[in-house]
Parts: sequence; structure tokens; C-alpha cells
Amino acid sequence: MVTPAFFACFPSPRMLAAAHQADVESLIRSTGFFRNKAKSLIGMARALVERHGGEVPRDMAALRVLPGVGRKTANVVLGNAFGINEGITVDTHVVRLARLLKLTRQTTPEKIERDLMPLVPRDDWALVSHLLIWHGRRVCIARRPKCGECVVAKLCPSAKV
Ligand code: SF4
Repeated sequence: MVTPAFFACFPSPRMLAAAHQADVESLIRSTGFFRNKAKSLIGMARALVERHGGEVPRDMAALRVLPGVGRKTANVVLGNAFGINEGITVDTHVVRLARLLKLTRQTTPEKIERDLMPLVPRDDWALVSHLLIWHGRRVCIARRPKCGECVVAKLCPSAKV
């Protein structure tokens, strides 16, 4: 929701790198933790300009050392912007769904990702994350899953139907 106005103000890493913190904060205030995020965004843009000629790098190691970028964000960028299936994005929905479906017993995103990777063809790693997130938002909602409407209820060990 914030990105149209954000990218209109800062259409390139160079422009974001030169931004004032307060201007970035005001554009992303509604997302929460906006001060830290603004600091990371400006720092990330500066790193892109200084180390990568203003381009987003296409590998996990280079992405991971950018300010504000962890494995989850790096997986999102690689899988969706570049079509590189380096890993599976594990957000709060994927954590919940993977555990409910008994695809993992782990609790941390990186360990859950390691359990999911052998279960899904590599070409579908970006897709499976979208499917789980979408299912978690629409049907398997935290604390009130709609098991009666769920298309995988017959396969799900946690189904309450
Ligand atoms: S059956 Fe219920 S708990 Fe299992 S995935 Fe569907 S909504 Fe979630």
C-alpha cells in the first residue's frame, strides 16, 4: 500500500540513498517500526550505490549483507524479481501452515525452510510460499482456521471438521 507513493518519491537507489530520514519515515509510517525501516532503506540504497553500481545483486550472500535484509527478504527478491529459486520464503503464515500440516516440527524460519525444501520441486519454491501465505490469509487464518471450507482438510492432520 505504501509503495506507489514511496517509489514515486524515490524512483532509484541513488535518490533513496540521498533521502532525508524524516521524509522516508513519513511515507512508511503506517507499516510499523518505521524509524528502523527508514534507516535500513536508506542504508540499503547507499550500499547498492556504493557496492553494486545502483543495481540489486542477484545472489543470496550479497543480498544478506545489505541493511535490513535477512534470508526471508533475500528469498523474496531472488524468487520474485529474478526468478531464482535459492530458498523458500518463510514468513509468519508459512511457519504456522507448515506446522499445522505437519511438514515440520521446527519453530525457527531457517530450520522450517530446510524441512520444506526437499518436499517441493525447486522450480516451485517461490510459488509454494505464495500459496501457503495466501491460504494462511484467506482460509487457515491464525486462531480461527476455516477448516470446513479448506481444500486440503482431508490431508491436514490439524483439521477440525
Ligand atoms: S484443515 Fe484447517 S488447520 Fe488444516 S490447513 Fe485447512 S484450515 Fe488450516
